[in-house]
Amino acid sequence: MTCTEFLAELTDYLDGKLTAELESEIRIHLDTCSHCLVIYNTTRKTIEIYRNNELYELSPSLRDRLQAAIMAKCKKGC
Ligand SMILES: [Zn+2]
Repeated sequence: MTCTEFLAELTDYLDGKLTAELESEIRIHLDTCSHCLVIYNTTRKTIEIYRNNELYELSPSLRDRLQAAIMAKCKKGC
């Protein structure tokens, strides 16, 4: 799995919507890529904040904005 593939699957991973096979690929990527691990932790915390404010489930537009922000951050960081 590449960083781009990881980012594309990240929100579904956090939602628990992926197949077991994809989940294990993501865990392998997180073990080997510290950059994506930081993005994963940041995104998970962001989603937890939304959950705590009972704004979760993420709306499609919010998901898109979140994903765009993550992608932008990755482009700068990579
Ligand atoms: Zn990565």
